[in-house]
Amino acid sequence: MTIFEFITHFPNEESCEYYLKLHRERTGINCKTCQIISKHYWFSGKKFFECNKCRRRTSLKAGTVMESSILSLHTWFTAFLLMSATIKGFSCLEFQRQLGLTTYEKAFNLMHKIRTVMGKRDGLYLLNEKIEFDEVYVEKSTKKAIQEHLKSGKESQKQAIVAMASEPKPLEDPDSGSKSRHCEFFKMKILRDVTSESIEGFIGDSINPKSVLFTDKNPAYMNIEKMVENQIMVKSSASTTKGDLNWVHVAISNLKKNILGIYHMVSEKHLQNYLDEFDL
Ligand SMILES: [Zn+2]
Repeated sequence: MTIFEFITHFPNEESCEYYLKLHRERTGINCKTCQIISKHYWFSGKKFFECNKCRRRTSLKAGTVMESSILSLHTWFTAFLLMSATIKGFSCLEFQRQLGLTTYEKAFNLMHKIRTVMGKRDGLYLLNEKIEFDEVYVEKSTKKAIQEHLKSGKESQKQAIVAMASEPKPLEDPDSGSKSRHCEFFKMKILRDVTSESIEGFIGDSINPKSVLFTDKNPAYMNIEKMVENQIMVKSSASTTKGDLNWVHVAISNLKKNILGIYHMVSEKHLQNYLDEFDL
């Protein structure tokens, strides 16, 4: 949705309420007492649904990420737009300013809630066809007291390991007819370590078994072959970075630019939320 479409469709609180009500009626309202999706009546004055069987009331926001929030639907909808419309993401301060939120904390909590639901939604999609996979080390922010305990040689303790898979899709230029490769989908997940077990867990959750997978020759990738249609291991070098593993490396460099450019450094606790905002 473009910003113009958003302004046309959702100019005020009423339009957001109307949209959410229709959406909830279409998907079905779950009654917590009856524990089923039951028929509900809508009470427009007080703005709640009532279960046809037990009369339990369900608010418009109940059962959504907005449940128990005092922010207006219009603020929430605008926040969804801001977080999905920009490729580079917003800094928390900019987000607070754009939405007119009174505190940084409110903006921070809102961004994190939205990132969490975005992560759940993206989790349903499996990457397809030709996939490139690699892992990346991201500097994480660590409390000073803990940092002093980390031995200087053990760099890995100061870095989070992120599994990165990309699915490049050929797009046709409508004017010239020429096909360019544009990377449409990514999956990113924090890994505990780079062992066959961790890597296989990520591959199983993220990639369609009918895919062809390109990786470098890391020994931890040796057993992936049985999980996909075909695995092509290429030697890691400057030419493969521009060739068979081009898109995963573009994604890695964008991720580093984003994390360093916008967030500077992210604690491991919040990193997965940031990844969810950038992938797909
Ligand atoms: Zn009920």
